[in-house]
Amino acid sequence: MSTLTAPIDVEKIRAQFPVLHQFVNGKPLVYFDNAATNQKPKQVIDALTHYYEHDNANIHRGIHTLAERATKAYEITRHAMQGFINAKHTEEIIFTRGVTESINLVASSYGRAFLNSGDEVIVSGLEHHSNIVPWQMICEERKAVLRVIPVTAVGELDLDVYRKLLSNKTKVVAVNHASNSLGTINPVKEIISLAHQAGAVVLIDGAQASAHLHIDVQELDCDFYCISSHKMYGPTGTGILYGKKELLEKMPPYMGGGEMIKDVTYAKTTYNDLPYKFEAGTPNIGDVIALNEAINFINNLGKAAIDAHEHELLVYAADKLAAIKGVRLIGTAKEKVSVQSFVIEGIHHFDIGQMLDTRGIAVRTGHHCTQPLMDHFGIEGTVRASFSVYNTKAEIDQLLEGVERIIKFLK
Ligand code: PMP
Repeated sequence: MSTLTAPIDVEKIRAQFPVLHQFVNGKPLVYFDNAATNQKPKQVIDALTHYYEHDNANIHRGIHTLAERATKAYEITRHAMQGFINAKHTEEIIFTRGVTESINLVASSYGRAFLNSGDEVIVSGLEHHSNIVPWQMICEERKAVLRVIPVTAVGELDLDVYRKLLSNKTKVVAVNHASNSLGTINPVKEIISLAHQAGAVVLIDGAQASAHLHIDVQELDCDFYCISSHKMYGPTGTGILYGKKELLEKMPPYMGGGEMIKDVTYAKTTYNDLPYKFEAGTPNIGDVIALNEAINFINNLGKAAIDAHEHELLVYAADKLAAIKGVRLIGTAKEKVSVQSFVIEGIHHFDIGQMLDTRGIAVRTGHHCTQPLMDHFGIEGTVRASFSVYNTKAEIDQLLEGVERIIKFLK
């Protein structure tokens, strides 16, 4: 964290989020479900509305004014995303529906082309189902083997075991930058470098990183990086796959259809250049265009300032929750994004979530699409509070009061 970072003016930021200013069950909304999806600032909503009110047209193939405007705005987001993650080439940015589709694209396309019987794919014990199941599916198809980096008691990856898992059989390593259930920030630079020494390519699931952490794909030297727009103040239904150009060029298309072709005859189709080879069909034009405003929102605040504010909230919440008798924190890694999971002995997490909702507090409960991780901790699920740049300590106090009341009432 930079000491030169200007502090966040939370009230000014909150004013930009219309959804936050409402009552839920008679109480002011406290939105702590940011890891599932965060809220959208007015500039994103306005960009979406503006597109449909003024510019709506299909892109790339039209010569009329609206089609040109829509195409230009769509490609502006591609450039903005290139800058956001410091990709070397614009054509390394492929628009998808989000992280899930990005991972499926790589597992399917790269996996079919380059995985063979006996090869190994390594994922980690901290992965979301969307970074497990696509690999399981392709491993089954290609008769490859899935290996898993284990997780320690505090929720960090055991890198000593990872080093031992790596071999010349390892073809792909797929891990998240930050865990959605525990908040753990993984040492991805080291993970990538070790994988490269073994000759494997690396995919990073950046779903929980893009709103919080500085991302530089050239510095990381990752081969693939996946982002969902809706986890970084942008609309749902879009996101990107970053891939190194030389790898994307070698990979076969994921879907066939319009836009991904150069020439089609019944005998043979030649495929389009990057990035269009991987963008078959009409994409989610309006949401991609609005995503540019989400990037602007983050860039205007600066990731360092966002991180400083969120980290303060995380430490405050974790310390106070841990001090409540009956509460057990799940996930206490040293390096974390602003996610805190916890359980209360003797009370089901669904009941806790429901009772907090009656107080206007939105948290997520359940396994968070990380069932193997929950199994590792011997639990079915957790209550997860995840904090964003527009949250406050006063809101955390309301959560703490709610938790204390629930324990008093139900025990
Ligand atoms: N990976 C992680 C770590 C996530 O948190 C999520 C969303 N919960 C995903 C993958 C899937 O993202 P999406 O649903 O946007 O495709």
